[in-house]
Amino acid sequence: MNKRSIYGLTMDEWEDFVVTNGQPKFRAAQIFDWLYVKQVASFDEMLNVPKALKALMTNVFDFTTFEVVRHQEASDGTHKFLFRLPDKNTIETVLMKHAYGLSICVTTQIGCRIGCSFCASTIGGLVRNLEAGEIVGQVVHVARALQVRIGHVVVMGIGEPFENYGALTNFIHIINHDKGLNIGARHITVSTSGIVPKIYEFADDHKQVSLAISLHAPNDHLRTTIMKINRAYPLSDLMKAVRYYLKETKRRITFEYILMKDVNDLDEYAYQLAKLIKGMNCHVNLIPMNAVAELGLSRSSKSQVMRFKEILEKEKVNVTVRREMGANIDAACGQLRATERARQRDKAN
Ligand code: SAH
Repeated sequence: MNKRSIYGLTMDEWEDFVVTNGQPKFRAAQIFDWLYVKQVASFDEMLNVPKALKALMTNVFDFTTFEVVRHQEASDGTHKFLFRLPDKNTIETVLMKHAYGLSICVTTQIGCRIGCSFCASTIGGLVRNLEAGEIVGQVVHVARALQVRIGHVVVMGIGEPFENYGALTNFIHIINHDKGLNIGARHITVSTSGIVPKIYEFADDHKQVSLAISLHAPNDHLRTTIMKINRAYPLSDLMKAVRYYLKETKRRITFEYILMKDVNDLDEYAYQLAKLIKGMNCHVNLIPMNAVAELGLSRSSKSQVMRFKEILEKEKVNVTVRREMGANIDAACGQLRATERARQRDKAN
């Protein structure tokens, strides 16, 4: 039987586990401290946990050791890890250095089934969901490997987090807990391609966590051509869910918009976008597209990016252009995993 990742339990679940096994509740906080404050890598190191309990834990849980297949560091301080999981699947995790501190970008699924036309993560489809412990494990492994404190998390790695909602929820509870990694809810951002029913759930369940929507087009016709998810959840439904989120959480929402040359970067789309989100408490993040060799799309010119931004500003939209990080190490959007899979294929042939 496969053991469960030790990083997959919330504090409540640890309390249940220790109490069920005849131990006082405070053991849960001790275990949390070993896992997330001291960040030990084995059961043996948990000095104040009784031997009998450790033996039980060893039977049930696994430390989910990730093998580091590749670790690259870019000149801007971005670190990119390609990890191999015990079942041989690979996942990628990126650490970015900002003025406000370190931010980690985590993966939630092995592959993805959403099928956006510009995204490398979707090539090859979905293999499986990650467990909560495998998502938390990325944060712990990177923090431990580099001996750093990570203050911000973006759920923008491979996968659609709202298609793995249960694991995402546990992940948030675990990394947010003040006796553990203590990453503030407002410092966690989840990005979705727009799975409408889950936006409502998220607004109800995670009021303090930031939400970003991968919009990428201001009308249904265009959005459906580049994101087929728009057929299931068209813009009218998406915007209704966004309004619900804004009303329930009183937070600001982010719209991500990758600029693709001659696809969605025309002036008229900037005007349409401004109209679509008019009056919302929101921010638009324009993303210079990372070209993915297999996908045949290219990025907008610098001048068109600036022009798009200026139109939005003129229309009173809050807008920024995403700073590019780690470009020289394939740090974008499933590229490292894709490159590695291509390498494996080449080796096999
Ligand atoms: N599935 C979720 C989260 C992962 S993608 C989502 O769609 O939001 C994180 C962000 O990277 C999304 O905004 C996504 O659209 C963007 N992205 C995907 N491929 C990209 C590419 N080739 N260049 C730039 N950004 C890309």
